[in-house]
Amino acid sequence: NEPLEVVDPEIAAVLELELGRQRDYLEMIASENFVPRAILQSQGSVLTNKYAEGYPGRRYYGGCEYVDVAEQLAIDRAKALFGAEYANVQPHSGATANAAVLAAIAAPGDTILGLELAHGGHLTHGMKLNFSGKLYNPVAYGVDPTTFLIDMDVVHEKALETRPKVIIAGWSAYPRHLDFAAFRSIADEVGAMLWVDMAHFAGLVAAGLHPSPVPYADVVSTTVHKTLAGPRSGLILARDMTLAKKLNSNVFPGQQGGPLMHVIAAKATAFKLAGEPEFKERQERTLRGASILADRLMADDSRAGGVDVLTGGTDVHLVLADLRNSPINGQQAEDALHAVGITVNRNSVPFDPRPPMVTSGLRIGTPALATRGFGDEEFTVVADVIAEALKPDADIQALRARVRVLTEAFPLYPGLQQ
Ligand code: PLP
Repeated sequence: NEPLEVVDPEIAAVLELELGRQRDYLEMIASENFVPRAILQSQGSVLTNKYAEGYPGRRYYGGCEYVDVAEQLAIDRAKALFGAEYANVQPHSGATANAAVLAAIAAPGDTILGLELAHGGHLTHGMKLNFSGKLYNPVAYGVDPTTFLIDMDVVHEKALETRPKVIIAGWSAYPRHLDFAAFRSIADEVGAMLWVDMAHFAGLVAAGLHPSPVPYADVVSTTVHKTLAGPRSGLILARDMTLAKKLNSNVFPGQQGGPLMHVIAAKATAFKLAGEPEFKERQERTLRGASILADRLMADDSRAGGVDVLTGGTDVHLVLADLRNSPINGQQAEDALHAVGITVNRNSVPFDPRPPMVTSGLRIGTPALATRGFGDEEFTVVADVIAEALKPDADIQALRARVRVLTEAFPLYPGLQQ
């Protein structure tokens, strides 16, 4: 029972260095967030020791009386938070949630219609090396080449042409709301199931700041760790119980064995917190931060500004910088921002002329900084630092110093050692 520093100093050093990195950099990867210490506590708890195959009250192991309480709380809170009659809180990740969803609503070989990966879709929506592309027959709709928006007439045509078993609405890199009612009516017309993967925007939905897909979709999946700000994991929801049995059996035993009870307990806490006014206020700062970022990047300013933004703005927690007309590519931009202390990821833009390892875009998100406490003023500074850092003659040291002022003013996990 020695502490980690004694048992494994090399891993203890990794934990300490990573905490330092998270404190010293501005985290703007759109899919990341900082969990509260209460969630770290559950995830580092004795619940990790417990096997609990099955569902609450119907387990294949003894000694589940306490973990049952945790899982039932997580289920009840998820249902209440999203207005769903069904919730499965066991998926270890977004990808396993999606594997279970597809297994429940499609058979191998069936056609599935989702957003093109290169236009902001996710690997699990039909990428050829992913299970979804290997097991099913993926077809895709893309964004419009001039507006970069999803055109529902094109989705409609694609659906009529390909007659998919499943239509997927959801994205990893798209800055606008989706029209769930239009997706529903297309699905009804062609006799498809509608699956919404709200992994990115679930926190905004929970806060009532983004349209909810729950009333429209046959099934909704999400990760818990992005805007929702909980532990790294997945969740499946449905508005009613029609698919409940199929979904449950495709999570366990279909995709998974024993659930991660320490993570499920942490999910319960995350769903509780997501129902509170502070969470809504944070999501409001997240959204305002993203629109400030878009506006400042696009500004016509001699020092900052001058960066194109896809679709001319954002409705959500992220901005897609378009570097197709910029002298620097996505890789160079990611490196420049790293040098000034800002972490983002490069991202292909639709119809990208550069290869996927280089790209012509950046995906920049505000959830983690909003969690850190940033408001309009700080996001304005961050936007200008980003725009300046992307210029060829950027003063990296001066920009790094401006970032340091912000990281020091908003301490992360004060008092935590590792
Ligand atoms: N679905 C979407 C839309 C995502 O963006 C992601 C993660 O990036 C996932 C699913 C997969 O989640 P995970 O990384 O937890 O498997």
